[in-house]
Amino acid sequence: MAASGKLASFRLPPLPTVGELIKLYNLRAEKQLSQNFLLDLRLTDKIVRQAGSLRDAHVCEVGPGPGGLTRSILNAGAADVLVVEKDTRFIPGLKLLSEAAPGRMRIVHGDILTYRMDRGFPANISKPWEEGPPNLHVIGNLPFNVSTPLIIKWLENMANRTGPFAYGRTRLTLTFQKEVAERLTASTGTKQRSRLSVMAQYLCTVRNCFTIPGRAFVPKPEVDVGVVNFTPLVQPQIQQPFKLVEKVVRNIFQFRRKHCHKGVEKLFPEACRMELTQEMMQKADVDPILRPTELTIPHIRALADAYAHLCTNEPSLLSYEYREELRLKHLTGQKHIPIDTFNAT
Ligand code: SAM
Repeated sequence: MAASGKLASFRLPPLPTVGELIKLYNLRAEKQLSQNFLLDLRLTDKIVRQAGSLRDAHVCEVGPGPGGLTRSILNAGAADVLVVEKDTRFIPGLKLLSEAAPGRMRIVHGDILTYRMDRGFPANISKPWEEGPPNLHVIGNLPFNVSTPLIIKWLENMANRTGPFAYGRTRLTLTFQKEVAERLTASTGTKQRSRLSVMAQYLCTVRNCFTIPGRAFVPKPEVDVGVVNFTPLVQPQIQQPFKLVEKVVRNIFQFRRKHCHKGVEKLFPEACRMELTQEMMQKADVDPILRPTELTIPHIRALADAYAHLCTNEPSLLSYEYREELRLKHLTGQKHIPIDTFNAT
C-alpha cells in the first residue's frame, strides 16, 4: 500500500493529451528533423522500463518533441529530467509539462550533437568508473538523421570518459531504425555484423530490447524502430585508443565479403603493404582468410594490438589513409605518394 502511495506522488496532474498538445500548438512533423512522434503512453512507458528503475534519477532526454516519452520518464519517478530539443515550436508545450512537475524538469533549447552534457548535471552524482553506473540515464526516441553520428560520438565519449560518461558508466536507452539496432547488437557470424557491432560491443553491453512497428508513430516512418540499451563495460575489451580501433575496424569492414587481410592491407602504404600486412596478421595470429563478419572481438583486439605495435615502430603509419592516397594519386597523377605527405594532411 505504502509503495503504491509513493508511486502515485510521481504521477503528473491531469494535462491535455500529447495528441491534444500537438493540435493546440499546431505541431506539424518536420521531415528534415526526422520527427515521428509516439502518442501511445503504454509504448513510451515500455521504452522507459528498459532503462531500469528511474526512481530519483537524473535523466537527459534527447529530442522530447511533444513530450510523450518525457511524461513516462516523469511518471517513473525521475527527480531531474533535462530535455534537449532543437525545434523551438515544442518549447511552449514542454514548459506546460515542466509546470506540471515543479522542480523536476529543465528545458534546453539546443542541438544534442553539440550540447555539453558533462556540464548538465551536478558533479556529486558521479560514481567511480569501476563501481556501478551512476543514477543518470540518457533516454531518447532519437531523430533517425542524427542517431548514427550521435552513437558514434557517444561511443568515443565512453572510451574517453567524457560527455555523459564524465559521471561514470552512464546507461543509454535509445531508439534506432530497426536495421541499425540489429547491427549494433549483431554477433559474430551473422549477416548484420558490421563496424557498428564491433565499435559498440568492445565498449559496452548492448541489448536489443524490442521492436516498435512503424505504424505506432505519427507520421508513420518507412521503417520499424528498435529500442537499444547500452551499459559501458568496466574494462573495454580492446585497450587501444578509440581512434586507432575505429581505423582498424573501418578498414577491415570496407570489404565485408572479402577475406579480412584485404581490408588490413589498406592500413599500409603501397610500398610496404604486403610485408606489413603479413607481419600484422602473423603477430595477431588471425587467419587471414576469415571474413570480417567472422571476426570475434578478441580477433579484433589482437589485430588492433598488432597494428598499434607496428605504429610504435613507425609512427607515420598512424596518419596514413588509403582513401586519401587514392585521392592524391588521382589529383596529382603520381604513382607513389610519399608517406610523410599524410602527416601534413
Ligand atoms: N520524443 C518525441 C516522441 O517520442 O514523440 C519526439 C521524437 S522525434 C523522432 C525526434 C525529436 O528530436 C524531434 O522533436 C526533433 O525536433 C528533435 N531533434 C531533431 N534533431 C535534434 C537535435 N540535433 N538535437 C535535439 N533534438 C533534435
